[in-house]
Amino acid sequence: RAKQEGRNNYQFFTPEMNTRASHLLRLETELRDALEQRHFTLHYQPQIHLKTGKVRGFEALVRWNHPQHGMIPPLDFISVAEETGQIVELGYQVLEQACREIKQLRETSKQPYYVAVNLSPRQLRDPGLVHSIAQILERTGLPARKLELEITETALMEQIDQSLALLHDLEALGVTLSIDDFGTGYSSLSYLKQLPVHSLKIDRSFVQDIPADPDDMAIIAAVTAMAQKLNIEVVAEGLETEQQFHYLRYNHCTLVQGYFFSPPVPFDQLEETSIKIQQTLTEMTQAIEYND
Ligand code: C2E
Ligand code: MG
Ligand code: MG
Ligand code: MG
Repeated sequence: RAKQEGRNNYQFFTPEMNTRASHLLRLETELRDALEQRHFTLHYQPQIHLKTGKVRGFEALVRWNHPQHGMIPPLDFISVAEETGQIVELGYQVLEQACREIKQLRETSKQPYYVAVNLSPRQLRDPGLVHSIAQILERTGLPARKLELEITETALMEQIDQSLALLHDLEALGVTLSIDDFGTGYSSLSYLKQLPVHSLKIDRSFVQDIPADPDDMAIIAAVTAMAQKLNIEVVAEGLETEQQFHYLRYNHCTLVQGYFFSPPVPFDQLEETSIKIQQTLTEMTQAIEYND
């Protein structure tokens, strides 16, 4: 009888659902192995300070270095890791690697670099988060103020009451906070004032259509003006063209990040990449001054 019911239950799954379920199950198992064997690696994308033309820090972006399938981008596995809860363990591996590597680069390059690390909504609900970050900072020796945590606007606003307390605990630890994908969610401006936020990352979708889309340009001008008044830095992501660069510079955007200067690169190419970016910028600004 039980077996019979079991079989009947089984028919609840359409062939399509069965495929999705088994796909997820398999991915979960593979993720577990990858976490055990530390198959995740970080690429880093430079963030350029427009006033000084210097690379000030890097965003750490995870990749799954899969023995059969090669480098798998985060969009193919982060949401599953989020669903299964494995993002918590993955997140700690990412934080530890990012802090260790950038601490090392700060020493070899003698530059005061910071690192920005993405946190997902599930990680924000982990009660051990603040304590674990404190331990990672202690183990790796990276100064707390050189770790920036990127939290998406949507994740932040989902549970704003809990988020407020958490953000203040993180602030007390000395790490800095950045609102990622800004403009895609629904932040209330009054919260911005209350949150201990160091920077806003204007989402790529507002940058990509410059200069064709006057609305996006107006939004960028307004956000940078507002942030300046609130004493919050603005980072523009997804900068791909020289025209976009000039527009963001004109509007006093604090930092830019995008393929125009560099895609995310493996750790061992980071120093060389940063030096090249600074040379390019020196040449560009000299040309601008000459044209003025
Ligand atoms: P994000 O945090 O908004 O990161 C920016 C994404 O835009 C990165 O994609 C980056 O490679 C890409 N990008 C940078 N410049 C350009 C550009 O000029 N043009 C275009 N078209 N794209 C650009 P990536 O590395 O595939 O990461 C995608 C998303 O995955 C990230 O979006 C973030 O939400 C998530 N993610 C990545 N690493 C982690 C992680 O360690 N933990 C968590 N929780 N999420 C992560
Ligand atoms: Mg990010
Ligand atoms: Mg972003
Ligand atoms: Mg984004």
